[in-house]
Amino acid sequence: MPICPPRRSSKTRGRKRRTHYKVAVPGMNVCPNCGEVTLSHTVCPSCGWYNGKQVKTVKAKKEEE
Ligand SMILES: [Zn+2]
Repeated sequence: MPICPPRRSSKTRGRKRRTHYKVAVPGMNVCPNCGEVTLSHTVCPSCGWYNGKQVKTVKAKKEEE
């Protein structure tokens, strides 16, 4: 048997409840290798550097070597 809520919640009440909702800001870091801003706990997308090591090779768009 479905139970109905005893009272309809008002617009204000619903809106007040939602004042606690907010978007989480992702943790950002600066890559020590290339200086690019990256997400923390994530391999650097531009140079493939993580935890002081090259962990994956990235196809460099600009090869300057
Ligand atoms: Zn990097």
